[in-house]
Amino acid sequence: MSHARDELARPPAEATELQGETAAPVPFLEPGPLQVAALQRSAGNRSVARWLSGRRGANAPSGAVLARDAGFDTLGGATPIAEAAAPVSIQLPKELEDGLKAAWAKSFPGGKSQEHVGILVQKKDGSYAWKAGPPGTSGSSKPNYGDVGKDERLVASAHTHPYDASEGNKKDVSFSGADLANLVTQDERVKAVYADTSEFVVAKTKEFDARVKDLDTTKKAELKTEMKKLWNDTYSAAKGTFQERVEAAVKAVCEKYDLVYYAGASGGKLTRKTPKVAVTPTVPKAELDTALAAVGATAATDEGTET
Ligand SMILES: [Zn+2]
Repeated sequence: MSHARDELARPPAEATELQGETAAPVPFLEPGPLQVAALQRSAGNRSVARWLSGRRGANAPSGAVLARDAGFDTLGGATPIAEAAAPVSIQLPKELEDGLKAAWAKSFPGGKSQEHVGILVQKKDGSYAWKAGPPGTSGSSKPNYGDVGKDERLVASAHTHPYDASEGNKKDVSFSGADLANLVTQDERVKAVYADTSEFVVAKTKEFDARVKDLDTTKKAELKTEMKKLWNDTYSAAKGTFQERVEAAVKAVCEKYDLVYYAGASGGKLTRKTPKVAVTPTVPKAELDTALAAVGATAATDEGTET
């Protein structure tokens, strides 16, 4: 099966190191019925209620409906987050979602695939703005980093993955090896891909930064080659549909190189796919309460969590 798009490099423009305001990391707890049961055993319903409220809090700390998703803000914040602090799910901010929808609408001129790209910047007042870049080719595009204005911070780049009829009209195709490897020399914390009915997000972590920070130009190039090789090798060895093999390759690269990966239906909530975090089911109550307090969960009643 042809996957020319995934072989193509999308050459990044080099940008300088960015500075910005800080954001508190949000501790992460793996969700799941088993864990809820385990928490109830070890810490009681009150803690479970707090834990659930903490999970909701990761997306809406005030408990109110917010115009913007705190999970995405955490990933794209100026302060790098540890892998373990990456939110369980995120929702793209409206500016990015709208920008990608507009980019997608332009991705099939004359029925031929053409990638579109853009950047998400954060202004001094904290608001986001999307800046559309120039059209790319069928299988590559170059982010418009030069459009980051004075007093703006680069948060994310995002591009489309269009496949026209001659390419099988493929939907839901995730990141290429180059998309991931280029993060070694790109300054955005977050990268998103819009693939018709699916959206994909990859974000850097403290651990990823540590891998990259002391590398010279040659070593960075070697690391990129390594990442692309792992993508290609995993893709080649994987079974399933084209999309499933791409997904397997993306997960392998993200897990090995400490990138966090999210996927989901376009316009909806995107779920974290990597890294997998195991939670010991026998967490002492005091330790759990400390963790719950750290996520800003307020004292909750046991209402609704009785078994
Ligand atoms: Zn791509």
